[in-house]
Amino acid sequence: MAGRLTNWLKGQGEGGSGTAAPDDAVAQLRAAKEAAEAANEAKTRFLASVSHEIRSPLNAIYGYAQLLERNEGKDAVSAARVIRRSAEHLSHLVEGLLDISQVEGGALRLSREAIRFPEFLDQLIAMLELQAQAKGLALVLDRQEHLPEFVHADPKRLRQVLINLVANAIKFTDHGAVTLKVAYRNQLATFTVIDTGIGIAPEDTARIFAPFERVGGEAGERAGVGLGLAITQALVHIMGGEIRVESALGEGSRFTVRLMLSQPLAPPTDPAPEPGAVTGYLGRERWVVLIDDDPAHLAMVRGLLEPLGFQVRTASDGEGALALAAQVQPDLVLCDVMLVGESGWDVAARLRRRHGAALKIVMLSGEGPRSGGPLADGPANDTFIMKPFDFTVLLDVIAAQLGMEWVRAPGLSGTAAEAPGGAAPLPFTIAPRAAAHCAEIERLVRIGHVRAIEAEIDAIAALAPEAALLADRMRGALDSFDLKALASLAKAVQADAA
Ligand code: ADP
Repeated sequence: MAGRLTNWLKGQGEGGSGTAAPDDAVAQLRAAKEAAEAANEAKTRFLASVSHEIRSPLNAIYGYAQLLERNEGKDAVSAARVIRRSAEHLSHLVEGLLDISQVEGGALRLSREAIRFPEFLDQLIAMLELQAQAKGLALVLDRQEHLPEFVHADPKRLRQVLINLVANAIKFTDHGAVTLKVAYRNQLATFTVIDTGIGIAPEDTARIFAPFERVGGEAGERAGVGLGLAITQALVHIMGGEIRVESALGEGSRFTVRLMLSQPLAPPTDPAPEPGAVTGYLGRERWVVLIDDDPAHLAMVRGLLEPLGFQVRTASDGEGALALAAQVQPDLVLCDVMLVGESGWDVAARLRRRHGAALKIVMLSGEGPRSGGPLADGPANDTFIMKPFDFTVLLDVIAAQLGMEWVRAPGLSGTAAEAPGGAAPLPFTIAPRAAAHCAEIERLVRIGHVRAIEAEIDAIAALAPEAALLADRMRGALDSFDLKALASLAKAVQADAA
């Protein structure tokens, strides 16, 4: 990717230069050399920033994992939460880098979904509220009174654009407020992010949209990777919209994004409620062989599958895997692509020759399906999963490959409002206290104060063991930023206690 990034960067730089006279070969060479050096410097700066970005979450993972190992400090659940969030952050970073390469290669695909527009904006503000609060800034959502309830958009990409702009506004503002203004007329949505921050000099306003460009001495100190606005602008263009900036040094900035977001003709039906967690499966016992040279990965997947009732055996290389498979005749093999020595693709091919089509083989890899191996749907393997993967994705693939049906715990959302404490209602000894915490949670949800919500949920969990399930559900809703589900849980507990 680095080579292509360099080309992109060079392209951006060359657009504005062109000072060399056409017949002056020396000047042309010098300009080319300077452009190459600038691109190289930018690449080095970029790699240094990326490795810095990677280091902080990695440190958190490393630190908490050691605490867990020594059984010290925080309890296991909160340590695991930090680890999971850090891993999510890392995977977002990787996604950002992939975005850049996708945008550059013209391979980015947009989804088109009907989204609940006002709630989408509320959730976005809730996500950024803490960041603004930490700097003592007001974060204001100033939306036109009658926004449509639904609009068509790619929610992930639209969120990414607005988060980039609002997060920048917070980052480059020390006093005052950041406002997200939203207007909608004739299918045209206008988002304006206004801050009272350090501003941008007129000569820099075009430059900031180029990759790796950060401007100004003061801004430079706070600057990040320098990819945010480049990705934002590219996304807005791909969505068929436009982005503009008006700013003056010391007087704040105003970024305006205009996008056509059509309204669906009829309101869409709500998606089916999330199914509950998988606790087992129907039918006979299944055998799985895991092949990976990373013991931590083997232990993780084994830890996921064994409690569900699978018989799991592990191997670290091709020879071991073949011997194991001959011995246990597994239903499924999960095989890492990057093994030490023989590649995973070759191991899969050998397993396929010995066991035929009845054996299901799923390849796992940190790289794309074409990385040095046969195609994803080649004869040796049945399918392919990219690492890191979501457990639910792995379980979906396993069920599809083995034609199995999962046994699930009662659903999380959807039914949440009707059964706040799970099957059993909260005992009357704690219900009023839980209701008081829930009233506070409802208030905090409205202002999006995530840390305080977490504290209230912890307080509910501490009331009595019977409240643990409710607290878990609330944490689940908070972790997935489903503030609506959280609020309805809180409401239902209060109604129950009344
Ligand atoms: P970064 O990761 O540095 O924030 P971006 O591409 O998002 O990268 O922004 C590029 C540069 O544009 C920033 O480094 C900063 O100099 C400038 N900039 C972006 N948004 C603002 C803003 N709201 N106020 C002042 N400067 C800004």
